[in-house]
Amino acid sequence: MKQMNGYIGRIFTIDLSSGEKDIIALDDQMIRKYLGGRGFASHWLYENLPANVPPLSEKNLLIFASGPCNGTIVPSSSRGSIGAKSPLTSILGSGNTGSSFSVQLKRAGFDMLVISGKAQRPVCLVIEDGDATAVPCEDLWGKTVSEATGTLRARFGYRNVSIGCIGPAGERMVPISTVIFDKFRGAGRGGLGAVMGSKNLKALVVKGSKGINAAHPDRLKKEVLRFIQILEEEPYYERYSKAGTAVIAEPMNKMGSALVKNGTLGFFEDIEGVNEKALKQHLFVRQKACFSCPMPCTQQYGVTKGPYKGTYGEGSSGASVVMGFGPRCGVSDMRAIAKAHTLTNELGLDLISTNAVLAFGMECFEKGLINTSSTGGVRLEFGNAEAQLEMIEDIAFREGFGRVLGEGTKRASDTIGGHSERFAPQVKGMDMMEVEPRGMPSWGLMFAVSSRGADHVRAYDVCQMMSFSDEVLIRIAGTIEVREMFGPKGKGRSVAFFENVRAVADAMEICRFVTRGKLGFPENLVGMLNYVTGLAFTAEEMYSIGERIVNVERLFNLREGMKASDDTLPHRYLSESLPDGAAKGKRVPLKEMLEEYYMARDWDMASGYPKSQKLDFLGLSADRVRRNLG
Ligand code: SF4
Repeated sequence: MKQMNGYIGRIFTIDLSSGEKDIIALDDQMIRKYLGGRGFASHWLYENLPANVPPLSEKNLLIFASGPCNGTIVPSSSRGSIGAKSPLTSILGSGNTGSSFSVQLKRAGFDMLVISGKAQRPVCLVIEDGDATAVPCEDLWGKTVSEATGTLRARFGYRNVSIGCIGPAGERMVPISTVIFDKFRGAGRGGLGAVMGSKNLKALVVKGSKGINAAHPDRLKKEVLRFIQILEEEPYYERYSKAGTAVIAEPMNKMGSALVKNGTLGFFEDIEGVNEKALKQHLFVRQKACFSCPMPCTQQYGVTKGPYKGTYGEGSSGASVVMGFGPRCGVSDMRAIAKAHTLTNELGLDLISTNAVLAFGMECFEKGLINTSSTGGVRLEFGNAEAQLEMIEDIAFREGFGRVLGEGTKRASDTIGGHSERFAPQVKGMDMMEVEPRGMPSWGLMFAVSSRGADHVRAYDVCQMMSFSDEVLIRIAGTIEVREMFGPKGKGRSVAFFENVRAVADAMEICRFVTRGKLGFPENLVGMLNYVTGLAFTAEEMYSIGERIVNVERLFNLREGMKASDDTLPHRYLSESLPDGAAKGKRVPLKEMLEEYYMARDWDMASGYPKSQKLDFLGLSADRVRRNLG
């Protein structure tokens, strides 16, 4: 296989049922059209996974993909992508992690792993020196994430080794389980931990020894220094470096964009219990960066006093943790929130889905739709941190009422009934994160249209948060009115724009927190990409790659039966006004934003399909798409 820059040039496939392995040469066209990481994973699933495969069957493909920048000096390029058909949503399941997994995967000899089949007994897949072997590991089945990771590290080493594993939740195929990398970094929303469990695959161990070539190392170094200089001047750099995304808890509450008590309120009275000051006061906190990142937005935390003493953890989802287990569930005890986070991680659950189902369950309890007979005696009330912890265990072990909540808020609402689907915080079966869409409508649109169901990071639209100039806003959204928080104008275009540029960063495998502002625009990334790969991409071409990735994910979902009418939000956000806070009286003006979004995408409003001219422009052959869709 030919020597490449930025890529290894090899894709490894393994069928765990038969043990059959193959190494496929990475195709130049795939690089040119999808770049890497999320682009590779989504493209591969679209091309190789037949429609209507049951997500927990042997036929589902589980993919781990790296990007061209992993293992180079490009800042914040530790990210890696995971993809499969989701058992939670039955559409695309995918995630992105900040561990060193992708870097070590490349150093071990592969750009991408594609896993099918099911091992007869629990195994871990050891990837090393251009090969991968399924090694029996019955002794690890049943272990928590830290136990399994610790044992595997002792067995396979510490230096240049990365581990992705599932906890008890993934083993039991809980639809809101995830994969945890290097003990603390979760990825794989939509139950990809369950997909791993369905394959009897407890863990992946990657051991790297190869170097990654860059085509023009000297020019790359200069470009990297320029990138870091711009980053250090960005307003978010210092704030995130000091306290991570948890710093936004208080501002979000003031703006009316925090989801409080599952969306029954628009303002959290006890915010002082969960703000930045409380974080520093009640938890031992140390900022930490992911591998190769100059902006340490993640945190190591520990509890040194009180009933949760000894709790320790690490994570990059400050806001999702603090606001999710906190105000969303009516909890204002930072130490209890830390405990909930650690437990969720240890058991291998997706933290956003977990706090979403807990908050939803609490509202059902308070409304009398469930009671202690349903919950096995647990008083699942807002603010009850102990109930939260009990229920997290029940979800992971599929016990008691945890069996219902572990199915995610959509299926849980189907079971609970009583019109609870109106306030179940989900889209297309995916549980929403802790932002109140009525307080931040562009995020409501993001939730409605994202390719993995209610999701905020696919677009991560920052037009109302960043101080972009008029000129930049016109380029993004066609109007400066997009700056206005509540009006619908420009939001469709801006969400489409950001979906495209975020897809490029995900394909390069650069973190979207670092690239959240102007650094995420293709013209600020293209130099590094070209100096790594030696290929002559243009910024316009990169933007089209992002657009192609979004469209191929759309096609995958349409083939699985998704409809245009699924691009919506739950009844609460469209039809019930927020009762208090800065966004009091607001609802999400989804219809107007959605129309503009479809126009920007060149998708048909009635069917939801990309129009033929768009498919042709992206080289996605409209004829073939029609045949695929039947
Ligand atoms: S910005 Fe934060 S999440 Fe992103 S790579 Fe750096 S430390 Fe990790």
